[in-house]
Amino acid sequence: MLLRWKRLPKWQKQNKYIRSGYRKPSYSYYGSTRDIARWHNETVNIWSHLFAAIIFSWFLIRFLAQSGSLTLDVVAVATFFLGAIVCFTLSFVHHLLSNHSRRVMILTQRLDRFGTVTFIWSTVVSFLYFAFYLRPPITGILHWRYNGSRSVHDAVFLSANIQGSRKPSHAHIDFLRPRALGNPTDDCLSPVLLASYRNLIILNAIGGFFYCMRIPERFCQDAFDIVGSSHQVMHIMVVAGALLYRAGLLSAGRAWQGEGATGLPCPTG
Ligand SMILES: [Zn+2]
Repeated sequence: MLLRWKRLPKWQKQNKYIRSGYRKPSYSYYGSTRDIARWHNETVNIWSHLFAAIIFSWFLIRFLAQSGSLTLDVVAVATFFLGAIVCFTLSFVHHLLSNHSRRVMILTQRLDRFGTVTFIWSTVVSFLYFAFYLRPPITGILHWRYNGSRSVHDAVFLSANIQGSRKPSHAHIDFLRPRALGNPTDDCLSPVLLASYRNLIILNAIGGFFYCMRIPERFCQDAFDIVGSSHQVMHIMVVAGALLYRAGLLSAGRAWQGEGATGLPCPTG
């Protein structure tokens, strides 16, 4: 039997705009786990991140199997996959056990936040690794500050070119050629990688905005209690952002390998 807001214990009251569809406290791991196959206001949250954890586990296994040897490039990509798996798994566990008891809810909520931090860390590490592939870390950061505006400009040009609205005017970056996915010999910051990271940030920002503002449930109470609530929107946005960033990360890695990059310092000027 599902509960309405007014019958909930205080520790289960997290979002006042979700009025129904709550599971009653189970005080049992088995009881909470059994709810995975039932419809309630955590079903979409549970399955969205369980599905994402399985998909990214499959991505990691396939990537390691295809990579052969363990290089720093492989470690960088695998770090992102592991970060995503940890994030989605801990989120899944939190939503599954959120009706166990106050103690377990708080514990799994902390684990959920730890997973979020792990995901952010893994995206930053993998991004910096491929963005400054040919540069030592310090000069890479300096390059970011010095040439950051040009790199953003290049990424915007890439988006415009995909839409067919205009041709790139930069002679040193030809986005139409497949090898120019990163064009690392000319520009140390891959446009595709930067674009995918930008998309990851935008999608997470949209999801975070919906979550913080409790949209859409605040405008139409009872309509989104089971499906379509702000937390579910945020989950979907995070998964979509991770999938887009994965594509950019793999493209950048392939572009570097296609250039036969050896890890030498990038020429300045
Ligand atoms: Zn969540």
